[in-house]
Amino acid sequence: MEPSNKPHRAHILALPYPAQGHMNPMFQFAKRLVSKGLKATLALTVHLAGSMHADLSSSICLDTISDGYDLGRSAQAESREAYHTSLWVVGSRTLAELIRKLDHSGQPLDAVVYDGFLSWALDVAKQCSKLGVVFFMQTCAVNDIYYHVQRGLLPLPLSGPSVEVPGLPPLEPSEMPSFIYKLGSYPAFYDMVVNQFTNVDDADFVLFDTFYELEKEVVDWMSANLWPLKTVGPTLPSLYLDNRLLDDAAYSINLFTPTTTSTVSAWLRRHPPHSVVYVSFGSMANLDRSQFSELAHGLALAGCPFLWIVRLSEQHKLPRDLMDSILSKEALILPWCNQLEVLASDAIGCFVTHCGLNSVVEAICFGVPMVAMPQWTDQMTNAKFVEDVWRVGVRARADEAGLVGREEVERRVRELVGGGERGREMAESARKWMAEAKAAIREGGSSHRNIDEFVKELMSRASIE
Ligand code: UDP
Repeated sequence: MEPSNKPHRAHILALPYPAQGHMNPMFQFAKRLVSKGLKATLALTVHLAGSMHADLSSSICLDTISDGYDLGRSAQAESREAYHTSLWVVGSRTLAELIRKLDHSGQPLDAVVYDGFLSWALDVAKQCSKLGVVFFMQTCAVNDIYYHVQRGLLPLPLSGPSVEVPGLPPLEPSEMPSFIYKLGSYPAFYDMVVNQFTNVDDADFVLFDTFYELEKEVVDWMSANLWPLKTVGPTLPSLYLDNRLLDDAAYSINLFTPTTTSTVSAWLRRHPPHSVVYVSFGSMANLDRSQFSELAHGLALAGCPFLWIVRLSEQHKLPRDLMDSILSKEALILPWCNQLEVLASDAIGCFVTHCGLNSVVEAICFGVPMVAMPQWTDQMTNAKFVEDVWRVGVRARADEAGLVGREEVERRVRELVGGGERGREMAESARKWMAEAKAAIREGGSSHRNIDEFVKELMSRASIE
């Protein structure tokens, strides 16, 4: 290929773990980098690139690697372990091929910004003489725990009523990530989250999709004791934060088909401010039938209008007879929506959430108080912080069988939507955090400065003026 006369911009390859909650934060961060003058290519798996609903900005190129299941993971992989092994083995090989291809494209690659879940990508980046930038998409608190486990500093199984991890408040064992608390529950995920730290010391930059003010204590501890990390979130579209990026009004990638915005907003407009309960458990959590039933009864007992997202694959678990009577009242059940637009609506009074980090941060950015119903992975720890540290919500307590009963759902929803003192306190705190989140990403804010510093250091390491 002829050498290009164009000035060389730093070129990064952004590589997210193939899941709904990981692709958009990575893509959003890439958009920020492009707005600072970098070139970005987003690498998705062949299957996801072909099956998603996407509205990709023309400023970011899309390319692919293979996870070994180009026709679809669920259809082919016999287990999560088999999938992760294939993602690692085939993913490493095809990532190296992609890097070589981009190097011969006239705009050679300088750095791989990889999802912490894909620690093997750092090894590939180094073998290809590229800078390696780890981008963690869970909180610093959760990663602090996994770090201590990986280094053998937090012996497992957990013992005693309280767990002490440097940088964190004391946690009950059940407030730890589920893979740690329920050892052996999901071995493939346990290996993946703990292995994030096997080679992290070799990374050239350590970035977190959170903001400093939200996790000040643990960020300070990690920065002083582990690596000079940078917090660069939140990664919601710019329209909802600083409104500085052109054409950044929505997430670009949906694995599910969202119901049209006009249908949802017309329904929301019919309700007074702070009156509607929004319920969603994200893209992966699977509730069992009895939990669906308790939740449906609890929402009916609370008596507020509600908008409940139930993915198509889960809808058969809804208690049909009850749903008919509930739906005749003020309720809307949809398979997927534009969650940002819903949370931005004045009509929303609270968010019953599984506490996936994106949902929590989105609720914070819109000042919406939460009823936390964590299901697995990092959600338990996020829920603890929602209730006790950030004070932006209440946890719905599960019984010994792990079921959140209908009275508990009713009580927690009423606490937030009923105009009581606790609800007012949570809403006020949510509004305070909303202001902090926006300030972090605005000109001069902590994440804004960190992104600028990152870009400058990256350019200098890549020998670009
Ligand atoms: N989401 C959405 N529409 C829905 C439900 C969820 O757009 O109907 C988005 C939500 O805004 C969030 C992501 O899906 O960005 C879910 O990520 P989260 O970390 O909350 O949970 P996960 O799906 O990873 O468990």
